[in-house]
Amino acid sequence: MYSRTQNDNGTFNTRCLYCFMTVASAVETPEQLEVEEAEHLCPEKALAHMLAHDRVIDALAHRG
Ligand SMILES: [Zn+2]
Repeated sequence: MYSRTQNDNGTFNTRCLYCFMTVASAVETPEQLEVEEAEHLCPEKALAHMLAHDRVIDALAHRG
């Protein structure tokens, strides 16, 4: 999920709604926004994934 805003000069900014990091600013086209967003490696999503993975391991470990 990304929050896109447009600047007065017509360029775009996009911000990740998971980590609130500005993924790109002063991007000139929506196509370029797509590229910048696709290349964002979200630390929050990676962390959530790791925690979910840990819970699975933990559940298996405590099964006996
Ligand atoms: Zn992010």
